Amino acid sequence: MIRFLIFRFLVPLLILLLARSVLRSLFGGFQSSSRSRSAQRRDIPASAELKKDPVCGTYVSAAASLTRVVHGETLHFCSEECLKKYRAA
Ligand SMILES: [Zn+2]
Repeated sequence: MIRFLIFRFLVPLLILLLARSVLRSLFGGFQSSSRSRSAQRRDIPASAELKKDPVCGTYVSAAASLTRVVHGETLHFCSEECLKKYRAA
């Protein structure tokens, strides 16, 4: 009966622990090898590439910037202030 209990509870527990450590090592290895690449992809998607603000020189993401089309060229500004300065200049 005791042996049965050990088998009933200890073996599933060991399998669980083993599976968890295997999964963790697999996942951890995967994460460390591709973390920088996937992080970059998440931070800078194709639609949010960096554009230079012509007024202050700050790089702003195209998706988050204020845009103005001047002579067919899209300019990206970091703030309303820079846009005003550009228009005043
Ligand atoms: Zn600016």
